[in-house]
Amino acid sequence: MIRVEFAMFGKKPRQRSCIACRKLENWTDLIRTVLVGNVVKVDLKHRMGGRGAWLHADCFSVATERRSFNHSFKFEGEIKFDELEDYLKNLGN
Ligand SMILES: [Zn+2]
Repeated sequence: MIRVEFAMFGKKPRQRSCIACRKLENWTDLIRTVLVGNVVKVDLKHRMGGRGAWLHADCFSVATERRSFNHSFKFEGEIKFDELEDYLKNLGN
């Protein structure tokens, strides 16, 4: 599906930096997440509104250790990662 989108737009992929390691990547190599209330949602279609936080699948544990989500979303409270964790678990299968 992602390749189809490239073909349609005919553009180079945009780059985003990972919130944990800060490395610039093509956005197709990162996962976009958004914060809804205090829950991190995985935005697979990149269509959800609001500020997105992008990260490598492998960087999730670093991101939580460094509170990168709090920084990125400018959110002080406790953030719930259940949905993102489930998504990452399924990726590993
Ligand atoms: Zn990273």
